[in-house]
Amino acid sequence: MICVAGVKIQLPPTYNIYSSIFPLRRGRGLTGLKNLGNTCYMNSILQCLSNTPQLMEFCISDKYKNHICRRNKTNGQVIEEVAALIKELWNGQYKCVASRDLRYVVGQYQKIFRGVDQQDSHEFLTILMDWLHSDLQTLRVPRQRDVISASEKAWLQFTKSQESLILHLFYGQIKSTVKCVTCTKESATYECFSNLSLELPANANLCYLNQCMDMYFSGEKIHGWNCPNCKTKRDAIKKLDISKLPPVLVVHLKRFYADPSNTGSYIKKQNYLQFPLDNLEMKPYIARAESRAVTPKTYQLYAVSNHYGTMEGGHYTAFCKSANYGRWYKFDDQVVSPLDASNVVSSAAYILFYTWLPPMQLSIS
Ligand SMILES: [Zn+2]
Repeated sequence: MICVAGVKIQLPPTYNIYSSIFPLRRGRGLTGLKNLGNTCYMNSILQCLSNTPQLMEFCISDKYKNHICRRNKTNGQVIEEVAALIKELWNGQYKCVASRDLRYVVGQYQKIFRGVDQQDSHEFLTILMDWLHSDLQTLRVPRQRDVISASEKAWLQFTKSQESLILHLFYGQIKSTVKCVTCTKESATYECFSNLSLELPANANLCYLNQCMDMYFSGEKIHGWNCPNCKTKRDAIKKLDISKLPPVLVVHLKRFYADPSNTGSYIKKQNYLQFPLDNLEMKPYIARAESRAVTPKTYQLYAVSNHYGTMEGGHYTAFCKSANYGRWYKFDDQVVSPLDASNVVSSAAYILFYTWLPPMQLSIS
């Protein structure tokens, strides 16, 4: 049973994401990925996804095969290649493997992933999530009650009553409320997300994740809002809140912004961001009216996509906590090495993967 935007959904028996996995051999999940010419952005994201236990189990147990949707934009091809790669990463047979077939498929659907130029791992992740969701969009949503909330209605419009494991794991919903300063009339809209994109504070070498969250969710003044009540342009306050928290919360740190003095190039914010490994508290950011629809949870960090250097000439790695070994590893293309938990937080952190799902029962044989 999974609760989505306040609606309880009974999943088919084959869809139990907590089911135990077959015994794992030593070395599984610690396989590197070859660099196929600036593909470290892709490798970094794939290792983070491969270390998402529920997604890994769904792939290597072949459960995904019962849920492939051939009607959507990528015809089920992306999940097939991602699953094949995750199986290789957890096979334990090779020290490193190449993601050639997956790269070929994603390159077919998105030109920028075809070449040998460095790309943004956040852009890759966002597009990949969208494709994986549509490739698995086969879960029918039971008939709704007659009266549903605005949040539930927006969720149904987004999913078109067809859901997926990817949606259940990674997708949340943001409520945006605009309030007229003159007459206090409020207007709310809802938007689904597969990751939160947070600004970093300017002129701060050291900052904290909750500062970025506060900045993102706190109110912002907007000018010239067409107030439906005053029927004229007014000053208003725009406020964001979470109306649905996903079990896996992905947080992107906006380190890159356009260089105003040099069109087409980017400046990178090098802030050292302090973020918690355990107990990330999201309760303060949940919309009050929707508190029924979301279960407040504290989150544990399990993966980080890191970026070093500049946008044009940078390098990506991943730090992931192995569900198999219960400890952290550094995934640097083909090289995988143990990492002390005290080194997980660094100024290279670019995308953070948090979860509130309990660790899965994996066993090493
Ligand atoms: Zn007004």
